[in-house]
Amino acid sequence: MTITAHGYAAQAPAAPLAPFSFERRDPQPNDVAIDILFCGVCHSDLHTARGEWDGTLYPCVPGHEIVGRVAAVGNDVSKFTAGDIVGVGCMVDSCGQCPSCTDGEEQYCETTGFVGTYNGPDPVLGGHTFGGYSDHIVVDQGFVLKIGHDEKDLAAVAPLLCAGITTYSPLKHWKVGPGQKVGIVGLGGLGHMGVKIAAALGAEVYVFSTSPNKRDDARRLGATDLIVSKDADAMAAHANSFDFILNTVAASHDLDAFTALLKRDGTMTLVGVPEHAHPSPSVANLIFKRRAIAGSLIGGIAETQEMLDFCQAHGLTADIEMIDIADIETAYARMVKSDVKYRFVIDLASLKTAA
Ligand code: NAP
Ligand code: ZN
Repeated sequence: MTITAHGYAAQAPAAPLAPFSFERRDPQPNDVAIDILFCGVCHSDLHTARGEWDGTLYPCVPGHEIVGRVAAVGNDVSKFTAGDIVGVGCMVDSCGQCPSCTDGEEQYCETTGFVGTYNGPDPVLGGHTFGGYSDHIVVDQGFVLKIGHDEKDLAAVAPLLCAGITTYSPLKHWKVGPGQKVGIVGLGGLGHMGVKIAAALGAEVYVFSTSPNKRDDARRLGATDLIVSKDADAMAAHANSFDFILNTVAASHDLDAFTALLKRDGTMTLVGVPEHAHPSPSVANLIFKRRAIAGSLIGGIAETQEMLDFCQAHGLTADIEMIDIADIETAYARMVKSDVKYRFVIDLASLKTAA
């Protein structure tokens, strides 16, 4: 049995997102059925909908920063009951057996790979999964998160499900904390959460940006200052001084400008996944100070819960601009121009009025 869902989908790389109906499964014994209240708009949604990465399956219903209310639960669900406020991030399933899954790092699932909230293989209905730009979703309870924030903040909590965990996980893994100088490259959805979380962890934070007009915001979000990455003198003033740099940029760019700012043994971790490859980085820049360039993918379910609880305890949510779903293409166009302050969030109530 299935239930018809309504949402917005891209039908092809160049086609604008438009209303689309599809089927969701009836809740299985371990499933949670969720009425979606809010869904954040991640740059990955845009990369996928527009076919900028290989492998987009159409129709594509993006959205993996989901907050909603539990409508019903399957017979074997113990963690949730109807009425609970919950979240769903980038994953809805994984093999559960491999070393990464048993370590709680489901995002690195080694057998099947994790099942994406959208554009993944649907394990029950076949075909592919559809994301949160829709009215409801049905998810295994193991991939549903508890939300403790105030109900008035729920729209601003949605971006934590991807932007929050994608920045929290590497900041924790590379042990960012007091006494460290940390750089965040790119002040967009991920970057602004990276600033808030790194500051809450006690680090001294600098933003590297191509947008000088974001300086006041960078400071308000918790950074000491914003360094304009195109200003060679401003960059040179910080040579060899950073313990850790988190690079969230969604476009191909010169990495050497940033590795040169790392101390001996410093690491720059990449989380942005640009459509076109970065120019190959300078090896000399790395070996003469034993610097590293690393990567990091979202975060596991347990760590996502830890991040949500951390953000609640520290009063952290995203800075958002709420939109109606009918305005998604305008939001995408602004995102491409780095004109986002700092995450668009779709109010799914607007689906009812959308054509
Ligand atoms: P976003 O909101 O669009 O922010 C990206 C920021 O990068 C922009 O606001 C801009 O900041 C900077 N930027 C854009 N174009 C640039 C260019 N040509 N040169 C230098 N800087 C540029 O995107 P997002 O949602 O934060 O996502 C960022 C990237 O992370 C995307 O590629 C996304 O797919 C990826 N991602 C990865 C993971 C993961 O698990 N690794 C998870 C989620 C998203 P300034 O104006 O400050 O320069
Ligand atoms: Zn995302």
